Amino acid sequence: MKRGGSFLRIIIGLGIVIFGVVKFCSSAEENPYIGETQYVDLSAEEEMALGEESTPAMIQQYGGLHPDEAEQRKIRKIGQKLVQNSIANASPYEYEFYLLADAKTINAFALPGGPVFITYALYSKLESEDQLAGILGHEIGHVIGRHSAERIAKQGFTNSVITGVAVGSGSQEASQAAAVIGNLVNMKYGRGDELESDNLGVKIMIDAGYNPEEMLGVMQILKESAGPNSTPEFQSTHPDPENRMEKIREAIEQHQ
Ligand SMILES: [Zn+2]
Repeated sequence: MKRGGSFLRIIIGLGIVIFGVVKFCSSAEENPYIGETQYVDLSAEEEMALGEESTPAMIQQYGGLHPDEAEQRKIRKIGQKLVQNSIANASPYEYEFYLLADAKTINAFALPGGPVFITYALYSKLESEDQLAGILGHEIGHVIGRHSAERIAKQGFTNSVITGVAVGSGSQEASQAAAVIGNLVNMKYGRGDELESDNLGVKIMIDAGYNPEEMLGVMQILKESAGPNSTPEFQSTHPDPENRMEKIREAIEQHQ
């Protein structure tokens, strides 16, 4: 009898565990571009809507778009070349590339669903088109990897994010939408997401005909510019450039 009782308790305990696992896995989705199972509860359309809605606020936060239209065109051209010649082309996302006027903050980031940004402060430090391709490739990696959507799901933000976007488009409670957008941008990716984006970035560079070794030069620039102006996307949340360089070298061997 005693034995039977503990057996029953084990069965009930297992049942509870299985219920929890099933509940968590119900939002699991296979990401075909990175070959991984992910936990996201935003659709690709919702990701794109969120990115599009948040774009004007992001541009404003970094001092507007850089006024040099020729430079904007150059960034768009390189960005689209990366998209069209890589796995990004098979994804449902609409990639846009923007040069932000901010000349002090060294930063580059992507919003869910496709918008990619680089500040003039970082852009002006780059030594080659390949280095720019490396940064844009890394950001495209965050989009394909659905890293923002994963983070939103993990933090239980999905509903407030969707509400914020809906409210934002009605332009009534703009402050609520702004708070949601602020959260989104300050949301830090994990170290694993960063290394995954470096790896994807290297692959995207190679597929589009760029020299992936130049990504190491980008790391050098980031390392040298670390300081009081260290940035949310490229420094404080990113693994140490030294450590990234080692993984980037591995990625180059893996994809070449
Ligand atoms: Zn990143």
